[in-house]
Amino acid sequence: MFSGLINSLRRNIAIRLSLWYALIFTLTTLGLLAIAYYLLAAAVGNKDREVLDARIKEAAAVYDASGLPALRSWVRSQPPGVRDAMFVQLVDVFDDVVYFSAPQDWVTFRDVPSWQMSRQQPGIIVRIPQGAQRDFMLESLLLPEGSLLRLGQVTDSREAVLDPVRRSFAVAGTTTILIGFLAGAFFGQRAMKPVRQITATARSIIRTGRFDARVRERKSHDELDELARLFNELLDKNQTLILAMRESLDNVAHDLRTPLARLRAAADQALQSGADAAAAREALADCVEESERVLSMLNTLMDITEAETGMMRLRREPADLCQLAREAVEVYEYVAEERRVAISTELPAACPALVDAPRIRQVFANLLDNAIKYTPAGGAVTVSVRAEDGQARAVFQDNGIGIPLEEQSRIWDRLYRGDKSRSQRGLGLGLSLVKAVVEAHGGRVMVSSRPNEGARFTVCLPSGEAGPQPEPNPAGEYRATTRPARMLLNPAASEQPQ
Ligand code: ADP
Repeated sequence: MFSGLINSLRRNIAIRLSLWYALIFTLTTLGLLAIAYYLLAAAVGNKDREVLDARIKEAAAVYDASGLPALRSWVRSQPPGVRDAMFVQLVDVFDDVVYFSAPQDWVTFRDVPSWQMSRQQPGIIVRIPQGAQRDFMLESLLLPEGSLLRLGQVTDSREAVLDPVRRSFAVAGTTTILIGFLAGAFFGQRAMKPVRQITATARSIIRTGRFDARVRERKSHDELDELARLFNELLDKNQTLILAMRESLDNVAHDLRTPLARLRAAADQALQSGADAAAAREALADCVEESERVLSMLNTLMDITEAETGMMRLRREPADLCQLAREAVEVYEYVAEERRVAISTELPAACPALVDAPRIRQVFANLLDNAIKYTPAGGAVTVSVRAEDGQARAVFQDNGIGIPLEEQSRIWDRLYRGDKSRSQRGLGLGLSLVKAVVEAHGGRVMVSSRPNEGARFTVCLPSGEAGPQPEPNPAGEYRATTRPARMLLNPAASEQPQ
């Protein structure tokens, strides 16, 4: 259990950061305290040294002037406090100790070799620790007649100054390091909160399979907030894609049943027709027709999904919408003629727009196809294009059966077909595709209609400059989805009754 706790602490970035922070902080603090202590100790040591230096010079002067007796009486004349803390030794040229004076407890050190101070190095100050409690400094001075004078001085006063400093440094250092570690841990935990939230959200999505969980954004606009925002955006996008895929799948599953059942019935019929080759051929032709219908539906559904989810790759190039409208009218001229619907155009010389021409041709074809399809014989369809308020507008107006108000919001739904439209061939996908493609261009499409008075579809596209560019798919690639416009572009097909 303990090793588990250690492992989880080790995996916690905030704890690791604060440990590093505490380590650096500790080293820096200890370094600063050590420098301060060293400077203070050096200052105190210098002071001791100066006092010792003055005293040994005084003793040497006394000895030089009046000999050993004078030195003795100089030692005795020192105040008791000084005398009890002072050591004096005089060594002659033969290294014999001719005079030694020291407090009672120092006498045993009279001939200790470790005290040896070379005659060649007079004046060196030595600190010799004596027992646990006391230490002292020694200085030696070579006298003119060759003797060596040694003088030692207790340095307890130094300890008296430095000891409290050491204690307060220890307390202050420990407190500062502790506060530093706690503050580091606190701020580290706080800073890592968004990361923990992102982890928790991802975990909850993986566990529950629910894509609606989101990380709370703090609006602090820092890097972690940006990460949380992008994470949420990613989830939004994934959710949209998944929902769109589910919806498409539902639609496909639902709407494939009928054509596949028909396909199967036709195939059965072909099989049962025996030697009747004509009946078999007719059944197979039905099979082909139904398969084409299924294929067309699948392709259109895929196009709609791609356009709606921003996965459709649009190759925008400067194009003339009038020319695209003219081409659509040319394609549908014969169909209109057969249905005795008159097509007229109101097209200026040119109407430039930055669009994916095959896609917009597909949009125009669908709208024109509907206009002709839902206009009874003798009716009229007008196609007009104009530039207005920085937009290019294409209008498809007919005087056909029109759309009831309650249906107008639903005609854009996938696979929706109006009540009165069932007699006409169609998949109920044309307007969904129109809307998805136009919106992928950054434009919009509107309808206004009254039953039995006709319908008017208006496509607005940003003219000249490009609208918002579609984004690449999550793998960073663009899918080449510019398959030629295939839906309802075949006028002959549009004439075939359902
Ligand atoms: P489809 O035409 O294959 O049924 P669409 O998505 O193109 O599918 O159109 C959806 C519905 O909108 C149609 O079923 C029809 O009810 C209605 N609609 C579209 N265009 C027109 C129009 N010009 N006049 C009347 N109704 C229309």
